[in-house]
Amino acid sequence: MKIRKSRPTVAVIDRAALRSNLAELRRRIDPRVTILAVVKADAYGHGAAEVARVLEREGVRSFGVATVAEGVEVREAGVVHPDIVVLAGFTADQVEAIFRFRMTPVVLDIDMARLLDQRLRSSMRSVPVHVKVDTGLGRLGVPMGELTDFLREMKKLRGLQIVGLCSHLGSAVHVQGETIERQLSVFHRAEELLAIHGFPPQVRHLANSAALIARPDLHFDLVRPGLALYGIYPGGPPEGPHPLRPAMTLRTIVLQLRRLPAGHGIGYDQTFVTTRDSLIATLPIGYADGYPRRLSNRAEVLIRGERAPVVGRVSMDTTMVDVTDIEGVERNDEVVMWGQQGSAEILVDEVAAWAETIPYEILTRLGRRVQRAYVN
Ligand SMILES: *Cc1c(COP(=O)(O)O)cnc(C)c1O
Repeated sequence: MKIRKSRPTVAVIDRAALRSNLAELRRRIDPRVTILAVVKADAYGHGAAEVARVLEREGVRSFGVATVAEGVEVREAGVVHPDIVVLAGFTADQVEAIFRFRMTPVVLDIDMARLLDQRLRSSMRSVPVHVKVDTGLGRLGVPMGELTDFLREMKKLRGLQIVGLCSHLGSAVHVQGETIERQLSVFHRAEELLAIHGFPPQVRHLANSAALIARPDLHFDLVRPGLALYGIYPGGPPEGPHPLRPAMTLRTIVLQLRRLPAGHGIGYDQTFVTTRDSLIATLPIGYADGYPRRLSNRAEVLIRGERAPVVGRVSMDTTMVDVTDIEGVERNDEVVMWGQQGSAEILVDEVAAWAETIPYEILTRLGRRVQRAYVN
């Protein structure tokens, strides 16, 4: 007998939405610009292995991961030929995996460059790397003031071939304004310095999703969309038509349905007390699944196409919602935490606002206990 381990709490990923989002982003760039699909953090919770396979079939030839382990996962998922760029650095013990799995590292300083070069000494090979400069985010990369020294040292490392120059914008939402213009002019200066030192970069890249959508002048040779691929507009959906479609629906069921009298406390510490005879549904999803505890007494979910409020504290494994005002709710009814149900929809943006965070965090916190199911 086959024992089913599945759980009713599932993140349903719509491959058709991923494909259509990719097509929409392609419409917005010059055909000569490469798309590097950012699939770090398990493809923002959507499952890196499957997302990468879907996008590769659509012709994506470049993937971005944050860590070496993420790159290994994508390669082992059967993504054989595309470039896998490690965006967020690496340590000495990861160098072997970078070579074995044919990843392209982003070099953040001269020490990292030396780690790669040392490994190559014996082999006569050379590897392509991208160099990241810090144009103002103050997070990763070679600070502008050190770029000349860095480049002088790079000339001694014969195994490394600088193919790309990149930087990261100081905002994932606001891509207009003085700070971004300053970053842009620093980026151009970095480009000049590289050329002067004999490393004219073939692949220059700076744009995240927001810049892909709103700043064609920042596309350069390659763009690095993450969030938009998953159907979410950084900064919320714009007025008017917005063709990107959220790829994920997080759904569960009504596990138990109970009628409770007025004055009955709900959940830990009784932060909600019924004020009328109430119908309370308990859902098998909690903060251990990545449904933030901060959503206690704040969020809404969809049942039978209507919104029901979360009541009481979200606990580790369960969440309660008040369905008194919704007609005909039954045990096992489908519940949508975010995504579409019929013509109703709860956006991840809304959930993020209730939780006082950003869609990125809501998606990437989705727990391992939540199964991913792929449709279309
Ligand atoms: C995460 C990341 C991106 C993607 O950002 P989005 O806002 O999700 O498009 C692009 N570049 C780098 C370096 C990143 O770390």
